[in-house]
Amino acid sequence: MLTTAPRGTKDILPDTSGHWQYIEETAYTVCRTYGYSEIRTPVFEHTELFLRGIGETTDIVDKEMYTFTDRGERSITLRPENTAAVVRAFLEHKLYAGPQPTKLFYMGPMFRYDRPQAGRYRQFHQFGVEAIGSKGAAIDAEIIVLAVQFLRKLGLNELKLNINSVGCPQCRPVYRTRLQEFLKEKVTAMCGDCQSRFDRNPMRILDCKKEACTALSQGAPQMVDCLCDECQAHFSQLKDLLTAADVEFVLNPRLVRGLDYYTKTAFEIQYSPLGAQSAVCGGGRYDGLIEECGGQPTPGIGFAIGLERVLLALEKQNLLPQAKNDIDLYIAPLGENAQAPAFRLLCQLRQEGIACDMDFLNRSLKAQMKYANKYPAKFVAIIGEEEVQQNKVMLKNMETGEQQLIDMDTIQQQFKAERKG
Ligand code: ATP
Ligand code: MG
Repeated sequence: MLTTAPRGTKDILPDTSGHWQYIEETAYTVCRTYGYSEIRTPVFEHTELFLRGIGETTDIVDKEMYTFTDRGERSITLRPENTAAVVRAFLEHKLYAGPQPTKLFYMGPMFRYDRPQAGRYRQFHQFGVEAIGSKGAAIDAEIIVLAVQFLRKLGLNELKLNINSVGCPQCRPVYRTRLQEFLKEKVTAMCGDCQSRFDRNPMRILDCKKEACTALSQGAPQMVDCLCDECQAHFSQLKDLLTAADVEFVLNPRLVRGLDYYTKTAFEIQYSPLGAQSAVCGGGRYDGLIEECGGQPTPGIGFAIGLERVLLALEKQNLLPQAKNDIDLYIAPLGENAQAPAFRLLCQLRQEGIACDMDFLNRSLKAQMKYANKYPAKFVAIIGEEEVQQNKVMLKNMETGEQQLIDMDTIQQQFKAERKG
């Protein structure tokens, strides 16, 4: 117990943390290009927020939340996703009073009691974007293009963008009734989950991954055929804009949400080489959510990308950058008397922004050289008894093997010159 992390969690060790930094920096760069600013919210919130903001008939709220009572008898939940928290912060800090739309992004750990397997963990990381305050289809197109560009920038090309419209509270009830009518006879042969979805959230039946259920819902009426004029126009504008941006998409009528505050655009990006867990990005419009959370009616749209799945995809395609740990200089003190001058030199050079390290284990010269080579270090500065007395160092170029005795005081200039040359 003491030496294993909890099931479904993962340590990110030094050999892979560079990959995470690479993905995170790519996300920062893309968001800056699109005018999205970072927001960081707490990793836990009042449970009520997620009950409202995600909806009680979803898998997340039904069976995946990490909920506990804290010492003050409050019900607290580790965030399973971040849209609700962003909306809470948007309202709490009156971000609606600033420039509109409010364009935000976030990155960080999420927590779900999922069944751990490749691409599915209990603590995982999402990069997400939310644009609050615009109801036009252009902002939908913008964030979809942003997600696609982020994934392409990392080198992922075999992307499949699925889009659908889930309508709005005007047109959806009509569809819901038509769908229930169609499923009425078939639902008894479906899985237990689908049976309980029939009354509570029949659209989710279309989303069931079980083969039997998928087969039975074949030929079901489609939401896109029941859209009201406004939703219809919005959806066709979105398709025009994606086409104008050269982003390919497929219409997927099974992409549903089914909660009242999810409206119009729903989309998902799949990376099929990942197999069962191929969804890397899920997103959509939530024009009713802000009101549901206690604000004025305000439209919004966002997506979340699962970074573990992105990392798996990059690994599969050999697209991850090589780890770089090399340093400019390794300082090798020999003997007690060399410690202080070596350490002073180390501190001075680091202040100058020169990446360097020194021996902290009193190793022999041979062992230190071996260690420096492993790093690898471009140069080694050897400081022995004699060097201490003369206030000099023996600078060795590890590439050419050349050695040069130089003044301790001038090593900074010397070293910088060597580095440039
Ligand atoms: P799935 O159908 O795979 O469970 P989801 O519908 O629960 O996905 P969303 O809530 O839309 O997923 O979250 C957006 C993205 O976050 C997903 O596309 C996926 O990449 C990632 N994700 C979701 N749950 C997990 C998890 N348990 N472990 C790792 N990544 C996850
Ligand atoms: Mg899930």
